[in-house]
Amino acid sequence: MSPRRAFRRYSLFLLPAAVLAGAPALAAPTVSRLTPPSELFANNRPAPVIARFLPGQRFDLQATLRPDADSKSIVSARFAIDGKPLDVPLSLRDCASGCLAGIPKNAAIASLRAISVSQPGVHTFSVTASQSDGQTVTASGNFEVMPLLAGGRKVRNIVILLGDGMGAAQRTAARIVAGGYAQGKVITPLAMDSFPVTGLVKTASLNSVVTDSSPGMTGYVSGNKNNNNEEGVFPDDTSDPFDNPRIEYLSEYLHRTQGKALGLVTTADVFDATPAGNAVHTSNRGAGTGIVDQYLDDRGLTGLTVLMGGGRKWFLPAATPGSARSERNDYAFAPDTPHTGEIVRRWGAAPGQLDKDRNLLADFQAAGFRYAADKTALDAIDPAGTDRLLGLFAYSNMNVALDKIDGRRGKAQGINGRVVDDYGFPDQPMLDEMTDKALAVLERQKKGFVLLVEGASIDKQAHNMDTERWLLDTIEFDRTIRRVQEFARRRGDTLVIVTADHECSGAALIGGSRVSDARLQELVREGGTANVRDKVVGIYEQAGFPKYRIAGDGYPETTDIDYRLLVGYGANADRHEDWRSNERPLQDGQQPFVKQEPLAAYPANAVARDAAGQFLVTGQVPGESAVHTATDVPLSAFGPGAWAFTGVMDNTDVFFRVAQATLGGVILPEGLFAPGSHSGKRTPRQ
Ligand SMILES: [Zn+2]
Repeated sequence: MSPRRAFRRYSLFLLPAAVLAGAPALAAPTVSRLTPPSELFANNRPAPVIARFLPGQRFDLQATLRPDADSKSIVSARFAIDGKPLDVPLSLRDCASGCLAGIPKNAAIASLRAISVSQPGVHTFSVTASQSDGQTVTASGNFEVMPLLAGGRKVRNIVILLGDGMGAAQRTAARIVAGGYAQGKVITPLAMDSFPVTGLVKTASLNSVVTDSSPGMTGYVSGNKNNNNEEGVFPDDTSDPFDNPRIEYLSEYLHRTQGKALGLVTTADVFDATPAGNAVHTSNRGAGTGIVDQYLDDRGLTGLTVLMGGGRKWFLPAATPGSARSERNDYAFAPDTPHTGEIVRRWGAAPGQLDKDRNLLADFQAAGFRYAADKTALDAIDPAGTDRLLGLFAYSNMNVALDKIDGRRGKAQGINGRVVDDYGFPDQPMLDEMTDKALAVLERQKKGFVLLVEGASIDKQAHNMDTERWLLDTIEFDRTIRRVQEFARRRGDTLVIVTADHECSGAALIGGSRVSDARLQELVREGGTANVRDKVVGIYEQAGFPKYRIAGDGYPETTDIDYRLLVGYGANADRHEDWRSNERPLQDGQQPFVKQEPLAAYPANAVARDAAGQFLVTGQVPGESAVHTATDVPLSAFGPGAWAFTGVMDNTDVFFRVAQATLGGVILPEGLFAPGSHSGKRTPRQ
């Protein structure tokens, strides 16, 4: 609902009966937004409860308050929970500047920062405000504090493996290609298929059934819904993307209460939504300079110990070629201003600084992080002497598995000029290699750790409808899952979760090619739908079982096999399709040198690619990219506590089940599924 509609509806709700009966209007101030979000406030119904927290988990209260006339102003506000006023410094910021369009200049934003509630159950909270003529308004919302039950032993380490955009089709495709089928049965199962428990996850965000990666991640690690593009915050009415009401992350909660460390490993640019959605609080996932600064400056809150991926462009001073640092996407809190000053004082957050010339790479190293710029340097780091680790293997997103493997195979034969060479990063590690090193460093942490591992380009290449590139990235991701599974099996105290933030592209395994690759190339040369579609696409039993041969490095010898697997897209933009592997990826607009040769010669979009075959597949969505879908995604779990992750879950449920296994202790299946379960003894807040 738009703030304006909420405002109108709520003001009607507040009108005294005399007004409704036609008496002269008695004006009063109004509350147009109340945070945390609730159905009680928005639609005057007590359920479903939207915001949920752990006992003691911190979050902000906020209200947007509007006087009833331009001549008046809001002079005071106070918050209460269950009728009891809160003894926390309140900030009241006016909207003379820096508020969203449509918010009157004499509106005010009232905030209470970093509060928490320990008593489980549904709580009602309220704001009462008065304007300059003495008239007042009160509005209420609700939230729930989830109980921690007394369980068995407690999980020490948590590893969340997030295949960005990895729906059931992407998983199945990896299984068909890497595992192979014999008479209808899989020959070599995927690691993720061997996990004992699998469920389905509902992925909607606070403001859409179709999420992007920011709220898709933060649902898992904050227990709450965020708007699209928002990370670890609730929406607000100011234009500053770093001042939104915050929600304490799993990493922050476990670091504060248990001393656990945080590791983030991704094949994306490290500023990207999935890694940032574990440690950074902002309503703008694109605010790169501020995001990477917050990683370092707020490591005392998150316990950040390992950070690996691409994204070097944010760590170089603005004058350095390739740098993307800019004051436009940075932040600086004014400590003298209560509105942001209380974020610093109450949360203990760093105030930030507009510092495009900062050498963040040097600052990380000064803070004790060992730095690896390529695979060779990463291999050379001995975990035994390493407390903190930073790896930045590309300017922005790393190259995908297909191109990294192609580069390695080329090098072995003395061939250069492959995609990784064009990017200038010929020696990038695979995701499993990064994860091995991260686990070795984090295992030395005395209190345990939370590790997020992202297979990022499953999503990015599904957007590009580049089948073989997301396919090999899913295989790379599963090879990583196997390494984590071996770690967890050896230790016995590590909970491993494999899931996705959302599906991407509406990928569908539509069948198999009816022709050899040589014949396919002839048909593409001849061109036209009658050749490239009708003579190629084999459906039902024509698809058979595509047979890919896996090389010693774990990846297909070639993806251009005879009678290959064919993939269609249900959430697609226009594209040309020739069913063959694309020699080069599409241009990546996040790369700093993308407009220069050799990257400028890469195809700009999926219509510019494969045009020779003249088989145009028109899409249902506008623009150049396939899009995320609202379809549920699978989640598989391994290790102690895994049994809790079954059924059809909301993404925010995952957070509370992880917390239960970590803080309350593992609850065995009988305890989970027996009638009357969850009525057992509740543990008091530790
Ligand atoms: Zn995406």
